[in-house]
Amino acid sequence: MFFFIGMHNSFKDCGAEGYHTCTRCGKVGWWRLIKETTWLILLFIPIPVRVRYYCQCPGCGGTSEMTKQEFEEAVRQGRKENDGEI
Ligand SMILES: [Zn+2]
Repeated sequence: MFFFIGMHNSFKDCGAEGYHTCTRCGKVGWWRLIKETTWLILLFIPIPVRVRYYCQCPGCGGTSEMTKQEFEEAVRQGRKENDGEI
């Protein structure tokens, strides 16, 4: 028997989270909403094993963890702002 096992991380940019000052680097900018999925590749079949939600500083790349609810709410807010709707 011969098994192919591997790990792979995918990152999805889901839009802007908000305009903040970073507490680490002091840069002011639009933080990005990132959904990171860790996949286990088993016999060419990707199985999602872990999903992380966080926002990321555009300056230093520092991240702040979010819950799934917070993340989805922030994505909705971002969409509304981008579309110019309230
Ligand atoms: Zn920063």
